Amino acid sequence: MSKIKVTIWNEYRHEKRSEHIAAKIYPEGIHGAIASYLKKFDNFEVRTATLDEPFHGLPDEVLDNTDVLIWWGHIAHGEVSDEIVEKIYKKVLCGMGLIALHSAHLSKIFTKLMGTSCTLKWREIGEKERLWVVEPGHPIAEGIDEYIELEHEEMYGERFDIPQPDSLVFIGWFQGGEVFRSGCCFHRGYGKIFYFQPGHETYPIYYNEKILKVIKNAIEWAKPVKRIDTIQCYHIREPLEEVKISE
Ligand code: ZN
Repeated sequence: MSKIKVTIWNEYRHEKRSEHIAAKIYPEGIHGAIASYLKKFDNFEVRTATLDEPFHGLPDEVLDNTDVLIWWGHIAHGEVSDEIVEKIYKKVLCGMGLIALHSAHLSKIFTKLMGTSCTLKWREIGEKERLWVVEPGHPIAEGIDEYIELEHEEMYGERFDIPQPDSLVFIGWFQGGEVFRSGCCFHRGYGKIFYFQPGHETYPIYYNEKILKVIKNAIEWAKPVKRIDTIQCYHIREPLEEVKISE
């Protein structure tokens, strides 16, 4: 079985700017934490890429060799090159999977693929979140119990301005009373997209085995079933059978 080629992209700014995050939460970066979990499995070929690398770590040879792209960004969405966003957009329409994590809801690539503002309500007081599985038969929920509890998380609340998801796998409930569509599946062209809400940078969420298991499941779900080289255009074709049109 061929391996799923996963590229974990991280803006990687909070981890450099905040001593607390660098020392106590993500010394290897958010990308490093997710990568070290995924590297335990034989079926993934894992690489990482960050904003400040040339081409944001995503030159053509990397995108051409990515089955599923994971995206974490927050304070520097505007610094991501439109040209690279356009390339990722086309790759998704041609079959590449995309997993948008947490504050990637406002990333250029996610909002372009959604076509809506993707805005939401938020509050950062470290309250509890309970992530309810609302589609237990979905492959992304495989191995997860009725819910996942996170002791501290940033609140994201409805309304989340996204198109109606093709499947809704998780609904998050927050201690302060709000709910949120926390695990949403979309199809765009040949590609699959999963938005997953947990992962505020000041909490060690990407070490939580259940959250990591959801990300692993999402990669397996979002891997391309069929990829094409370019976005196909409509063209004229001959009928397969003889068609007699009565006068
Ligand atoms: Zn956040």
